[in-house]
Amino acid sequence: MAAADTPQLILNAPLVAARLGYPDLSGLDLLELFAFIHPARFLVPTPKGLAHALELPEAETDDAVPRLLQDAAGALLATCDSEGWAEREGAWSALQSLAKLRWPWAQVLAPHIRRPDRAEKWLFARLPEWEEAPERPQPAQVTLDGDEVEARLDLLTGDGAERREGQRDYARNAARIFGPRQSRHAPNLLLSQAGTGIGKTLGYLAPAALWAERSQGTVWVSTYTKNLQRQLRRESRRAFPGAERKGEPARVVVRKGRENYLCLLNLEDALQGGFGGRAAILAQLVARWAAYSQDGDMIGGDLPGWLGTLFRNRAIRSLTDQRGECVYAGCPHYRKCFIEHATRASAQADLVIANHALVMINAARGRDQAQRPARIIFDEGHHVFDAADSTFAAALTGAETIELRRWVIGPERGTRGRRRGLSARLADVASYDEAGARAIAAALEAAQALPSEGWLQRLHDGAPSGPVEALLGAVRAIAYARDESGGQEAGYGIETEAAQLDGNFMELAGQAQVALAALRHPLIRLGVRLDALLEDPPDWLDAQGRARIEGARHSLAWRIDTLSAWEALLEKIGGASGEGELVESRFVDWLAVDRSEAREFDVGIQRRWLDPTQPLAKVVLEPAHGVMLTSATLCERGPAGEDWQTAIARSGAAHLETAPMIASADSPFDYASQAEVLIVTDVKRGDIPALAGAYARLIEASQGGVLGLFTAIRRLRAVHGRIVDRLARAGLPLYAQHVDPIDTGTLVDIFRDDPRASLLGTDALRDGVDVPGHSLRCVVMEQVPWPKPSILHRARRAANGGSAHDDRIIRARLAQGFGRLIRGKDDRGHFIVLSAAFPSRLLSAFPPGTPVLRLTLEEALQRVAASVCLSEELRLDEPAGQDEG
Ligand code: SF4
Repeated sequence: MAAADTPQLILNAPLVAARLGYPDLSGLDLLELFAFIHPARFLVPTPKGLAHALELPEAETDDAVPRLLQDAAGALLATCDSEGWAEREGAWSALQSLAKLRWPWAQVLAPHIRRPDRAEKWLFARLPEWEEAPERPQPAQVTLDGDEVEARLDLLTGDGAERREGQRDYARNAARIFGPRQSRHAPNLLLSQAGTGIGKTLGYLAPAALWAERSQGTVWVSTYTKNLQRQLRRESRRAFPGAERKGEPARVVVRKGRENYLCLLNLEDALQGGFGGRAAILAQLVARWAAYSQDGDMIGGDLPGWLGTLFRNRAIRSLTDQRGECVYAGCPHYRKCFIEHATRASAQADLVIANHALVMINAARGRDQAQRPARIIFDEGHHVFDAADSTFAAALTGAETIELRRWVIGPERGTRGRRRGLSARLADVASYDEAGARAIAAALEAAQALPSEGWLQRLHDGAPSGPVEALLGAVRAIAYARDESGGQEAGYGIETEAAQLDGNFMELAGQAQVALAALRHPLIRLGVRLDALLEDPPDWLDAQGRARIEGARHSLAWRIDTLSAWEALLEKIGGASGEGELVESRFVDWLAVDRSEAREFDVGIQRRWLDPTQPLAKVVLEPAHGVMLTSATLCERGPAGEDWQTAIARSGAAHLETAPMIASADSPFDYASQAEVLIVTDVKRGDIPALAGAYARLIEASQGGVLGLFTAIRRLRAVHGRIVDRLARAGLPLYAQHVDPIDTGTLVDIFRDDPRASLLGTDALRDGVDVPGHSLRCVVMEQVPWPKPSILHRARRAANGGSAHDDRIIRARLAQGFGRLIRGKDDRGHFIVLSAAFPSRLLSAFPPGTPVLRLTLEEALQRVAASVCLSEELRLDEPAGQDEG
């Protein structure tokens, strides 16, 4: 009632609203104020984080938090009054717009932000333009000497650093991928296992920097998680000094998929009325951020991850270029575009930090040679298989096909925005080239056969329109008829294998295939016309026009590829024979209805490679000169010790002509004294109250610092709901993925920042969390992490040794989860699995020497509590200033 009456000072309104069960809560959110005053600045969105960011004393107790919030508001307003406010430029103009939008803070801020003497530069005038640069020549052929590599490593680790033999060997091995390649299609390939704590990042950055310097070539370092990408950005500054010198090409560039970056044209649309209500306020705050952002990266870059959840995440997404709508040189902001900046800078850079998916996509369809990675270090290399799996997948679904329709046709009745279809994008081509104009017209007509607005509703109503919708209607009907996964009741997605499909389905598939081919043909013809134009350019084609046509040609090529993949999928669906079993068995196809909380959002046919390392080897590895896959869990530890066969198979190496080089470096940590694995045998599987009770008591015993890992969101929510209040009353905050309206990156930041906090989550937390020190002292898995019994899993299981395949997956997951626990030489902790029947054959997942105990919950609690007491004593004994830092 108080909040509804008078605007209150709040920190993170959506989170408070969720906790109170009062979704309409709003007020003066300090996070919004912070985002306005200090755009692009890091902040952990908690009272403690706010105090740190503003250099205020922390609140000792919860009771002191309201006072802190008032002080924080005062400090932020005082910043606006001060001369030294670094982000003043643009604030006054933005505030005028925000006042019109009735942003609650606008009135409060108005007296504190003085009108500037001269008109402020508007965002789009302020951003720098990129310069054209000549292509880099081929890199020189260089062989690195092991001693030189070690010397470079010494330089990076610093004079005073202790000599780490494991790291030196690791660096020498990494250098081997940079040697000249001996034959075509045979890259120098190294699989390198590096136990936690080896110092692998500097271990590979040392030879990479040396090679880049000598050869004048580019090294790509690829990660799977955003977290490692952030860490690499920091560490690469040491390896590439002067990486960000003003006025010179950047030596280190972070590259992500285009869907991560702010699209200035979308932002302009949003600012000029494309967004309404709260989303319009968000657009203003994003514009403030864009003026101060390092690179315009909205997802995991310097835009605070919490900003999206304060408003609506979808609004953030719609400011990026999600679906390749970019009009390239046809865009008024082309020369300032963040994406173009990153793309161009990476062609000149010594080191490009990217992710696995982007590396694979660039290898497959990089715009030119300079964009194709030839020397690649895949860190988190155990995920290369998964990344290849999704990169080389085909999905003929409603969401995908309607996007293609929009790309071809452009805005239709009832749609807003600046999307432009082929004919608008290539109007000049059409008026100059008759054959091109005919191809565009034919494509437009053929695209009418693709799903249009309202397709999902029509599927529901049994009234599909056009051949592709008709096929999707049949997919949906069969999926509901046959799915036995239990997902129907639980509200999850449902699926069924693409087999035993009847004549009616096959007929619909055939008609859809014809419709897709009818679209592909004119697109191919158009591509030929564009090529001809580029080859023999008419007088009117200036540099801008040329860039636009090149852009169109590029995106045309991958739409044609997508259509071909869909047609191939329909050609072979349902066990049709033809080229024989061999072709059939390369793929796994299934029919799926994607749902979230029982709400359908996509329907279609999915295709995966049974072994996605086949296309990986062909498209990524073979054209490369040097590739390294590295990780702490690259190579499996089976009961008989290290097993490289799986690592070789999952890296794609098995499909190359030459054998890979192999190296392994053990972790320097003393797991026998630093960690204990506790297998709790008296929490019954499926007993949610008992599971929740176990979590609560473990969190109490360890006084927070628990990372709880779940294999099902449903159980995570059930456990969280039962214990969150009880723990909060004990001063032990509990956060959870899929429950709290906070993005995962921010959840981890909060967890890292507060040693009394605990965090529950699923897959992403098992592998992407780096929380060294006291904040993480206990990892608790709710049960043995069995793989999800999907259609895809069943096929791979059958092809890869049945239960042995399952065991490999579980061991890998256990090893990854365990890997979160001990990140530094002084870390200590427990890895707990709540499982009455934990098979002994899985124990080899843990590093050799780690003690494993099977015990009751009561005994486990005692061990956890005792170790908390011990580490408290040790921490109190520790002389000041000895922190590992
Ligand atoms: S060039 Fe493309 S991505 Fe960049 S701002 Fe313009 S439309 Fe957006």
